[in-house]
Amino acid sequence: MKQTQSHQEFERACRVIPGGVNSPARAFGGVGGEPLLIEGGEGAHLFDIDGNKLLDYVGSWGPHILGHRHPAVVEAIESSLWRGTSFGAPTVQETELAELVVEAVPSIEKVRMVNSGTEATMSAIRLARGFSGRDKIVKFAGCYHGHVDSLLVQAGSAATTLGTPSSPGIPQGCTADTLVMEYNDTGQLADAFAAHGDAISCVILEPVAGNMGVVIPEMEFLQTARELCDRHGALLIFDEVMTGFRVAYGGAQERFGVTPDMTTLGKIIGGGMPVGAYGGRADVMDAISPVGPVYQAGTLSGNPLAMACGIATLKTLKETDPYAELERKTERLAAGLSEAATAADVPHTVAQIGSMFTLFFNPEPVTNYTVSSRNNTDRFARYFWGMVEQQIYLPCSQFEANFVSVRHTDDDIEATIAAARDVIVTLL
Ligand SMILES: *Cc1c(COP(=O)(O)O)cnc(C)c1O
Repeated sequence: MKQTQSHQEFERACRVIPGGVNSPARAFGGVGGEPLLIEGGEGAHLFDIDGNKLLDYVGSWGPHILGHRHPAVVEAIESSLWRGTSFGAPTVQETELAELVVEAVPSIEKVRMVNSGTEATMSAIRLARGFSGRDKIVKFAGCYHGHVDSLLVQAGSAATTLGTPSSPGIPQGCTADTLVMEYNDTGQLADAFAAHGDAISCVILEPVAGNMGVVIPEMEFLQTARELCDRHGALLIFDEVMTGFRVAYGGAQERFGVTPDMTTLGKIIGGGMPVGAYGGRADVMDAISPVGPVYQAGTLSGNPLAMACGIATLKTLKETDPYAELERKTERLAAGLSEAATAADVPHTVAQIGSMFTLFFNPEPVTNYTVSSRNNTDRFARYFWGMVEQQIYLPCSQFEANFVSVRHTDDDIEATIAAARDVIVTLL
């Protein structure tokens, strides 16, 4: 596959942008080589600047459940554009998107729009601390909640030890109140509450983990988190930035029937525009400014173009209800990939739920970060580049979720399985 233009433009970018990218996940660090520079997208496909056409399973890392340039979304952005790009004053569109979110997501009675998933989790944590008057937070290793100081932490050596910052530039003090647990480990969580119960403001978790590859939660884990928070007066926060409107219209909380106190959203609710949101119980949400004392603000929050894009995306999802179809296609793809790997004797496991999946080069079921860190990443890198050669664009890391959109056809799915068969036999 030709990459001449991408190579030249990437070198040019590297001279003025750190690493040539505005977010590290795009830099191909996990697979080596250089990223493709993208010119456009249509439906399930991406076009790079060398004229290659690729079947896209990244979907801009989650937002594009409707694929690229869905007509309803394009039209909504265009008509909003002609009215202006930003006013810094309330618009009807903000209420309209908020109503769609409140109607869809079981835990959300009131919602505040922000500009990214990171902003959503950062604000939700502040609100949980302000509302409860407590400082400690619980998070799980391998769950990513954006680049918030207090959440960029590594697990300590023992179950209930405090985390240490996972990036330079984060003072020890920022993570000193963050407890890091193993995902799906109910016992550890119970121990943490036994030791620190009256100091824990909130537990934040991805109700399906998507940022260590797809890891499915055990029902008992979610239910125990709910019970422990109730018993100790802590708030349960589901970070549904990835799973919201993805694993079901109402997110993982609808699918599993476990309702948190607060939910963070992003990705799909913006339909490809920069939008995040956090919402929850009305009494909790009313603790934020201007009603309550907890401060949070944003010059471009609720931006009209972004709201138009989000409204069109959610309305289309609500009206067309594509979730059963998406699940059927993604199940077929996951089964096909697994068969291909089995036929080639390549140790693997596939995790899939709704339209998200990960093929792990790991023989064990991946239930937490410790298991996920044993994935064979060299094998993944060769798989990734083999698939690119077959014009199939996957997330450039083993520790990511792949996404199917409504624009992926059954033929696309079968072509992907056939390509994977060709690539996987070369991997042993
Ligand atoms: C992507 C993601 C975030 C961060 O969102 P950004 O818009 O990249 O800041 C937070 N939480 C989860 C679960 C995510 O998948």
